[in-house]
Amino acid sequence: VAVAIGVDVGGTKVLAVGVDLASPGRVVASSRVATPGGGTEDLAAAVVAGAVSVADRVVASGATVVAAGVGLPGLVDVDGCLRAAPNLSRGVGATLRAPLGDALRVPVVVDNDANCATWAEVVAGAGRGAREVVLVTLGTGIGGGLVSGGRLLHGGHGFAGEPGHMVVDPSGAPCPCGRRGCWERYASGSGLERLAREAAGRGEAPSLVSPEDPRGPSGERLAELARAGDGAATAVFATFAGWLGLGLANLVNLLDPELVLVGGGLVDAAELYLGRAREVALSSVMGAGSRPPTRIEAATLGPEAGAIGAALLAAGEGARSRG
Ligand SMILES: [Zn+2]
Repeated sequence: VAVAIGVDVGGTKVLAVGVDLASPGRVVASSRVATPGGGTEDLAAAVVAGAVSVADRVVASGATVVAAGVGLPGLVDVDGCLRAAPNLSRGVGATLRAPLGDALRVPVVVDNDANCATWAEVVAGAGRGAREVVLVTLGTGIGGGLVSGGRLLHGGHGFAGEPGHMVVDPSGAPCPCGRRGCWERYASGSGLERLAREAAGRGEAPSLVSPEDPRGPSGERLAELARAGDGAATAVFATFAGWLGLGLANLVNLLDPELVLVGGGLVDAAELYLGRAREVALSSVMGAGSRPPTRIEAATLGPEAGAIGAALLAAGEGARSRG
C-alpha cells in the first residue's frame, strides 16, 4: 500500500496525516501538536516530528511512504520557502523541503495551505470531476486556491490565489497585511466577529454583548444565537453574507469558474450564510441572467483538507518526477 504524508501548518496547530493513495480521501494515521512559539527552526522541527511520527506508524502497518507535502499559511515561493505570512509571521523564512526530505527520504512538496486544500477537494472532495474551480477558506483570514484546466494555478512566483487581500473598502478596517479594507476583514471568521462587535458598539445588538465576554461573541456563539432565532445575530450573518457574496462575484467575474467551494472553519455554519452569499454573488456578476450560473457550494473534506491535499500534491509531483 502506498501512502503519502501531508502536514498542514496553522497558526495554532501542526496537523500531519498519512493518506492512502488507493483511496485518496482516506486518512490512515494522524498526529497533531501545537504550533511552536519559536522561530523557523522550531517550526521545521515540529513539522518533521509530526511527519516522522505518522510515517513510523504507516511503515509499522506494512505500507510504504512514497512522498510528503507541507501546506503553509502564506506566500510560498517556487523553492518552498515561506516568504510572507500575516497570521504566522514567526515562520517567515522557513524552508522545509530539505529537513523533511532528509528525515523521510522521499520527494517533498511545499505549497500554500489553501492551495493544498483546493487540491484535496478537487481530487477527493466536493470538486471531484471539475476542472475550473475556486476554493475560498473562511478561517482567521481568507485563503484561496485556483484550479484551471485541472491544474493548480501558482502564478509567476508561486503566490497566486490570495483573494482575502483583494481590497473591498480602501478606507476600511486595517488588515495584518498592512493595508485597509481587505476582503478578509469582512468575510472571514475574524471578520464575522468584527461585524458583530461593530453592531454591538452601535447599540444595534444588545443580545451580542455579554459581561463575560467584553471582546464580543465568538463565531461559534454567533452561530448558536442565529440558529436560536436571535435577530441581531441573524442580521450580522446577513451583512456577512453580503460581503462574502461581493467578493465571490469579483472572483467569478475574473475567473469564470464552473464551481466555487467555500471551506475553512466557518463552513460548519454554512446554512446561516451560504444561500444568501450565493444569491448576492450570482445576481451581481457581469451579465447575470445571461450566463450559466457558477455553482457555489460548501467544501466537504473539513479541517483535514489542507493536510490531505499536501499529501496528494506531493504524491502527484513525485509520480511526475519519477516519470
Ligand atoms: Zn490584507
